[in-house]
Formats: sequence, structure tokens, C-alpha cells
Amino acid sequence: MFGLMPNCRLDLKKPYYCMADYQGAEARWCPGCGDHAVLATVQRLCRDKQLPPEKTVFVSGIGCSSRFPHYMRTYGFHGLHGRALPVAAGIRMRRPDLHVFVVMGDGDCCSIGTAHWVHTIRYNMKMVVMLFDNEIYGLTKGQTSPTSRAGTRSSTHPSGSVLPGLNPLPITLGVTNVSFVAQTVDWNPAHMMATLDAAYEHPGFAFIRIIQRCPHFAKGLHEELLANPDRTLYLDHKQGITLPDEVARMYKNRARHDPSDLIAALTHAMRTDVIPIGLFFQDRSRTRYDVYGAANINTPPERKEAMLNRELDRFAV
Ligand code: SF4
Repeated sequence: MFGLMPNCRLDLKKPYYCMADYQGAEARWCPGCGDHAVLATVQRLCRDKQLPPEKTVFVSGIGCSSRFPHYMRTYGFHGLHGRALPVAAGIRMRRPDLHVFVVMGDGDCCSIGTAHWVHTIRYNMKMVVMLFDNEIYGLTKGQTSPTSRAGTRSSTHPSGSVLPGLNPLPITLGVTNVSFVAQTVDWNPAHMMATLDAAYEHPGFAFIRIIQRCPHFAKGLHEELLANPDRTLYLDHKQGITLPDEVARMYKNRARHDPSDLIAALTHAMRTDVIPIGLFFQDRSRTRYDVYGAANINTPPERKEAMLNRELDRFAV
């Protein structure tokens, strides 16, 4: 006869998640679209960090890149144009146990979603926010976007756009309580991975602008950058985004940039002669609204109701 020993515990092995555990539906982006590279890198990050898929959520707005949650085998919310951030903030407030990622395009974030973008930076809730910047509205077939550079020929500006493109980096850096701003490119998976890793580990709102190729509507836009590595400025610092030597060697054009220096970050962010990649700014000590907001998360509903009633009773006449 077998009896259970009082201290006997089943030693269940921790699950190990592999790439397939994060791979959702087959991506329907155009061949050569930079979004494919970002998707593969994000899936690698999830695998390396061993994020439980049921504890991970991707939130997006509308646009080509916003199809991202469909291609992840995690929770996802494919929302409304420009509204990814308020949804993500709500998730973060009530479910601090989840790993929250946000995917936005340039039309999504920098046009209709601008107010949400600015205020969510200030709220500094922990999440990884990826701005896929391809300088064009792709899903709606090639209209000028806020970040399109002057002279962009598009269906809305067949003779070329007139205004200079909006630069999302100084805007983000200029918002009160900003805590993490970085830039990477879709064609350097090692740098993108290191950037995502740093963003994931950051205790706050981690904003990454990913310069993304759209070979369909913005063909050849970054050809010069790809052909001439000296057009890229690698922001190098031991507190920044560090690369293995064999990758870092590719970048002859480097600048020592201390990411605690906000003024220097703004100066680099506004450069137009080169494209800086790396960590512009990080401050881990900035106030986080999700910490404050989650303070009463475990309060039982009866207690919350009693507190609410007490407040309302103050206005009884
Ligand atoms: Fe990618 Fe551009 Fe095709 Fe959209 S239109 S899927 S951004 S290549």
C-alpha cells in the first residue's frame, strides 16, 4: 500500500518556451517589408526572456505594422487608429503582472494619436513602445504621413510633399517625465535586439523609434543609409546600447553619448546629416503612474464599494 508522504511535492519542471510558442498567424506584409525583421526580433526577445505567452500582450492601433498582434501567439488587442496607448495604459494599470508591448505606425502615433503619445510619455507606465516609422501611410495605399520628408511623392502629394517631416525623437525627449528614448533600424537585427532588450529591462515607458523600410510605397528611401554606413551615427556608451565587437566594428562613425544627458540627447536627435542609432536618454528614477495607480489593486470589491460610498456620502444633502 502506498501513502502520500506529508512533505512530498511534485517537482514540475518549469516550462521552456521556444520560438514556435510566440509565432502566430503567417505574416501578410509585403515581401521585403521591414516589419518581418522586427517581428522575428521581438519573438526572439520573448523567447530569450521566457515571457509566458499568457502573461504577454501586444497592443496596436491601425496600419500595416498594427497587424503585429495577429502574428504573435500571445494576447493581443488590435484597436483603433491612434488609440493603442490608452488601451495599453489601461491594461498596465489593472494588470501589472502582464508584459505590455505597443506597436504603432508613424501615421498612427504622430498624427491622430499625438495627444495620447505625449500624455502617455508623461505617465511613464512600464511598457515597451515601438514606433514603426516608414514615413508613409502603407495600409491605406501611400499617402503622405506626418514623418514623410519634404518632397515625398505620394497619392496625396503627387508633385511632392511641401512640409518637412516631423521628427518624433525630440518631441518624445521634450515631454516632462520622459524616461527612455532609443532609435534603431530594421536592417540591423543585432542592434534592434540590443535596443529591445534595454527597453524591456527599463522600469518605465520605453520608446523606440524603428526606422522601417516600406519597399512598396517608399521604395529605396533608405538605400543611401544602407549603402553608406557612415551616414549612421552609432551612439556608444557603456550605459547605452552596447553591441558585440564584431557588429560594432561596422560603425566607423561613432559618438560617445552619455544617455543621462538630456540636452546632448536632444542635440543628437535633431541631427539631419546622419541617422543616430542607440540610446538617446534613460532615467530609471522617473515617477511611474502605474505604480501609484496599482496601489489599491488587491483591495477587495466590498472595501472599494464602502470607500466609494463614504466619498459619495460627503455630498449627501
Ligand atoms: Fe510593409 Fe509597406 Fe507593404 Fe505595408 S505597404 S506591408 S509597410 S511594405
